Amino acid sequence: MSAVDTPEKSTHLALVTTRHGGLEVMQVQQRPTVPPGAGEVQVRIRAAAFNHLDLWVRRGEPAGHWPTPIVPCADGAGHVVAVGQGVELPIGTEVAIYPVISCHVCERCLAEQPQLCDRFGLLGEHVDGCAQEVVNVSVRDVVELPSGLDLVVAAAMPTTFITAWQMLHSRAQVQAGQRVVVHGPGSGVGSAAIQLARVLGAEVIATIRKDADEALARDLGASEVFRNDDPQWPRLVRKMGGADLVFEHVGAATWQASIKALKRGGKIVTCGATTGFEVSLNLRKLFFHSISLLGSTMGTRSDLKTVIEYAARGLCKPHIGARFPLTKGAQAMGVLERREVQGKVLIEM
Ligand SMILES: [Zn+2]
Repeated sequence: MSAVDTPEKSTHLALVTTRHGGLEVMQVQQRPTVPPGAGEVQVRIRAAAFNHLDLWVRRGEPAGHWPTPIVPCADGAGHVVAVGQGVELPIGTEVAIYPVISCHVCERCLAEQPQLCDRFGLLGEHVDGCAQEVVNVSVRDVVELPSGLDLVVAAAMPTTFITAWQMLHSRAQVQAGQRVVVHGPGSGVGSAAIQLARVLGAEVIATIRKDADEALARDLGASEVFRNDDPQWPRLVRKMGGADLVFEHVGAATWQASIKALKRGGKIVTCGATTGFEVSLNLRKLFFHSISLLGSTMGTRSDLKTVIEYAARGLCKPHIGARFPLTKGAQAMGVLERREVQGKVLIEM
């Protein structure tokens, strides 16, 4: 296919973090629509999803780390409306956007580990994200959707589901029959982890902060649920034989209990630390019990393909908490910031 097919109108609406600050810095702006470059596709976005990262970028925390103005939202899905030179994807193809930015040419990118690329970044962080009607991305950074998968559902999945899949499948190599503890079924990554651990055939124990989350945890596939403020929960897990894996994304508040819940030879895999980065570690226990600590960040494009296929087969689904039109983007961000809903907050276009 040559040059550009059916270009979109010459401007489009975008939600923009104009500078660092409170919700007042969010504006909806008209942006020029640039034709896709060689190797790129132009996607008409149907829905985009916020992550907590969008809040840190807007607040400018940590200072000096995030450029503005920037369009938020790493996650989005839509259909192809134009293609650049050398791209053969048909117009109209429905796609989810792979949110990782990488160089595509280094050893790690070629080995399909772009999250280890020296130029690793995310859409909406250092490059404009999906909270706009039209976005141009490399054809290597989209995944075709199987028929029947709703674009809004696909838009809610990428970051949390590829993060959870990479942790469980590639890093911790969870096997059928293993016992996996997942904290926080109400969080995006916790919800994805419970469902994907079940897909892998693991037995899932969830820990919750409030009783109201128990039904959610069981609904997602947990067979046992403990309150994480009950200091007895690690002992109760060990009584069941101990955890093969604890799926960590909470950090300081749960770390010691997570270690205590492990069986000998157990693993902890972590992708975040919302309650604090500094923890202590008893090295004697680490080596004497042959414990493995695994760090993990994001996932690969094939991870995105895999989780999208699972969703199309009804094996997992994102929890969508609220949807707003693009023009109410600042309001949507406020709902996320004040934790007024559980589940992903989306903007639709
Ligand atoms: Zn690279």
